[in-house]
Parts: sequence; C-alpha cells; structure tokens
Amino acid sequence: MKKAHEKKKKYIFKFQKHDFFTGNGPAGLSLSVFLSGWQPYYDINSPHPDSRLHARLSQNAKQSLLDQDLSWFEEEFAEIINPSVRPIAFLIDMLMRPPNGKSCLRYVQNPTKSVSHIVLGETDAGGSWNSYDEEMITVSLLGWLDLPAFSLVEWFQGQPLIARLPAGVIREYMKAYAKEMGITENLRPYTRVTEVSKKCDNQGKDYYDVKGEDKNGQLFKIRCRKVVLACGQNYQKLLGVSGEEESTKDIVYDIAAMKKSLLQKDNNNIKQNLPVVVIGDGISAADAIIQCLKSKHNVIHVMRRSDAQLRTTMLSKLSATIYPEYAQAYKLMTGKEKNPLYERIIQGTAREVLDSVVSLNTPNGIIQQPYSLIVACLGRRAELSMLSEEVEFLADYRCASDKKMFAIGSLAGDHFIRYLIGGSLQVASTLFNENKQEEVEELQRQLLAEHEKVEKRQKCIRRKHASSRICWLSRILSTSS
Ligand SMILES: Cc1cc2nc3c(=O)[nH]c(=O)nc-3n(C[C@H](O)[C@H](O)[C@H](O)COP(=O)(O)OP(=O)(O)OC[C@H]3O[C@@H](n4cnc5c(N)ncnc54)[C@H](O)[C@@H]3O)c2cc1C
Repeated sequence: MKKAHEKKKKYIFKFQKHDFFTGNGPAGLSLSVFLSGWQPYYDINSPHPDSRLHARLSQNAKQSLLDQDLSWFEEEFAEIINPSVRPIAFLIDMLMRPPNGKSCLRYVQNPTKSVSHIVLGETDAGGSWNSYDEEMITVSLLGWLDLPAFSLVEWFQGQPLIARLPAGVIREYMKAYAKEMGITENLRPYTRVTEVSKKCDNQGKDYYDVKGEDKNGQLFKIRCRKVVLACGQNYQKLLGVSGEEESTKDIVYDIAAMKKSLLQKDNNNIKQNLPVVVIGDGISAADAIIQCLKSKHNVIHVMRRSDAQLRTTMLSKLSATIYPEYAQAYKLMTGKEKNPLYERIIQGTAREVLDSVVSLNTPNGIIQQPYSLIVACLGRRAELSMLSEEVEFLADYRCASDKKMFAIGSLAGDHFIRYLIGGSLQVASTLFNENKQEEVEELQRQLLAEHEKVEKRQKCIRRKHASSRICWLSRILSTSS
C-alpha cells in the first residue's frame, strides 16, 4: 500500500532503455564496458601456458567470448577449478592473469555490438571503493584489481614499484577507467534507486519501472526490459545487542569512521585513554588493530573463534612476505606475540552496551569493560529494499523467481574484483543473446501481423470482386429477360 506522502511525489519520466543496472562498482563498470561494444577475444598470439586450454580456446579464437557458450570449461577442466569460485569467474581470471603474467585476451571495440543501457549508482564511479579508507592498503595485488581492457599498469603507463596500492589509488583508477573506456555517458552517479517494480504492457510484454532520486533530489522513473543488480554488499553487519542503537556516537563499523572518531578531541573516554574494543577476527579487524597500535591506543580484541578455529581463517593463510602487517596482527591474535597495548579475548561475544561500558560473554564469565570506542568489524551484507519481495540468485546470476533480473559482483557472491569480471561477461553474453532472440521474435511478430493484414485486405478485395460480379451477372440476366 502507498503511504499518504507517496501520492504527492512527482516522477519525471527520464529514459527508456533496454537494460538498466544499479551499482557502479567494479561489477557494474565491467558489465557496462561489455555492453558498450568492447568484445573480448582469446588472443592466439598470447597463448595460455596450459596447452589443453589453449587448444580448446583456439578453436573459436575468431569469435568474441561474448558470442560463445563457455560452459564446456566446467566439465572439461573440473580438476583445476577452485571449488569456491564459479567456473566462468575462474576461467576469465585464468585468461586475464596467466602464470606468465601476459593477458591472453585482446579487445576489439565494435559499436554495432552494443546494448542501450544505463548504470545508476549512489556514489561516483567505483562503487564501494569511494567509501574505503584512502590509506587502506589493498589485500589484492595490483594485477588482481584490473578491469577489462584497461589495466592498472596501462593507467600508470608502466609497472608501479609497489605490488599493493592504497584504496584511494584504486578509486581514482576506476574513475579514469570509466572515461578511458568511453562509458561515462551511460553512468548516472549520485543516483539512488528506491523502487523496482515489474509491469506488463498492453501487448502482454513485461517491463520494469525503476524509480529513484537523482543528485539534485529530482525523482525519476525509467522504463526498461531487464534489470541487473550490482549493488554490492554495502551495509555493515551490526552487533545486534541491547544499547547499540543508543550508542551510535561511540560504536563504528569501519576503519575510516574509526580514524575520524579517534581524532575527536572532545571524546573524554579517549582523553582518559580507555581502551578501544575491536570486535571481529577478519581482515578489517586486523586493520583496526594495526591502526590503533600505530596511534598508541590500548586495544581489547574480542574474537568469537577459538585458537583452533583461528588457524583456519583467511588471515592465517596470507603470506608473511607479501602481507607482513597481517602476519604481525595474526601473531598477536593467536597469542604468539605480545604487545603491552594489546589484550585478546577469544571465544568472546558482546552482550550489551550501556554508558560506554560493554558487557562481554567470555569463557571466564561476563566481563564489564569500559571503552572509548567500539570498532565492530563483522562484515557486510546486502540490502535490496528497492524490491518488494525477497529474491534469490542462482549460480548463473539469474534471479530464481524472475528470469529478466540478474545479480553480479559481490551481491552475487563474487567478492573479489579478479573473480567478478567473469560474472559481468556471462550476464553481458546472456543479455546480448536474449536481446537478439527477442528482436527476432519481435520481427517475426511484426511480419505475422503484417501478413495477417495483407491477407485480410486480399479477402476484402476478393469479396468486393465477387459481389460486383454477382451484380453484373444479375444486371445481364434482368435485361435479357
Ligand atoms: C574494507 C574492504 C576492503 C576490500 N579490499 C578488496 C581488495 O583488496 N581486493 C578485492 O578484489 N576486493 C576487495 N574488497 C571487496 C569489494 O567488495 C570488491 O572489490 C568490489 O568493490 C565489489 O564490487 P561490486 O561492483 O560488486 O560492488 P560495490 O563496489 O560494493 O559497488 C556497489 C555500488 O552500488 C551502490 N548501490 C547500492 N544500492 C544502491 C541503490 N539502491 N541505488 C543506487 N546505487 C546503489 C552502492 O552504493 C555502491 O556504490 C574489499 C571490501 C572491503 C569492505
């Protein structure tokens, strides 16, 4: 049911596009590039070192990957595919980043092979990379963050000296990427989608009405045939304990907000040097600890896992040579190293927050811990409030209950940039094929309608001739009698 104030809202009808997607992060940008006529081909002059894969891809090297059915990869190369990654994501990652470091893909721009589309996003191009702490050093190595057809090395015009870059640099690369690939006219940054609803036109064809608000506060409406959701996972998971909502000033959920809070001179608890309580045991929690120790803040670190469970986390698997700061944090977290500013609580959870005191469940009973700031690093979740019902997405990126809706990127479970390109490619390929099929069907429908019209006209003419012949005959008969 519409709320009273909804009735007064005036939507400007803005665009009519074939396809629309929300989210201008790496997934949305790469999909836009594929739909704008950038065709990826297997480059036989830069063969993949896996000779079997090379032979298989060479068979269709003259055909764009967007025009090929690549499902053979899952069957024929099952033994090499990382089971936690979708086969198409794994294949494209292999081709973009073969062991010899030379991409096996070449791109040809063919504007005739494009689909009209629009990309809406709440932020500037780059999606969630606009909200990460500028100085955060990426977990991914440089080459793992490349988007299709214009790599970071090309943007830098040479190999940078460091392998892991600050998030602020990656954000700038993504903005430059949109310009370089010529897709900026498809992007509508600082635009929020508030509603996506499915409708049916008077010919029985489905379409979507997409409503939202642009950067000037103007409400708009778009009509389109397909929807791709690339909205990432941008909502912080909350502690879900009593007192959390009332303590918004001294609970933060990411490093950028933590740094800002620690710099606030008016926080008496910080002045009194009360500890920062970091909750969580992932990469973000490690980042929070590193930052606090660097700025000489006491840290109480609460982790839900046991020592045995900590040995299987992603942090435990990172190479100490490439990630020395995480190796250091991991040693503290597992008690292998000590720091006078750091105290760890394992198998602990928060149970309540009240008046700058957090109550913690620990194996030794409940602890009442005064704090200056809580940094809750619990991960992120997606929120699709623009849809009227909950939806589920399948392995082929399609919505289970609506075959004209898709999800890509971290929303679809492809969390890292290196693995989300494959999903964008697969959805672009599906959209091309289906749009082609729909165009053929539309042409057939129009031809049939035209054929029926001609037949009707001919029938009419035949009837007219027949009746004039009868008139003529009856006139002859009447005069002769
Ligand atoms: C702290 C942190 C560090 C990370 N480091 C790395 C790393 O080193 N390497 C790596 O590969 N990945 C990293 N990631 C993972 C990151 O999720 C991916 O790199 C990538 O950003 C996912 O891309 P995406 O396009 O799916 O979504 P996003 O980048 O999240 O973009 C989605 C965009 O959609 C917008 N949006 C959502 N809802 C709406 C709406 N209703 N209307 C309009 N716009 C909307 C969002 O505001 C956002 O801008 C990191 C993640 C975090 C949180």
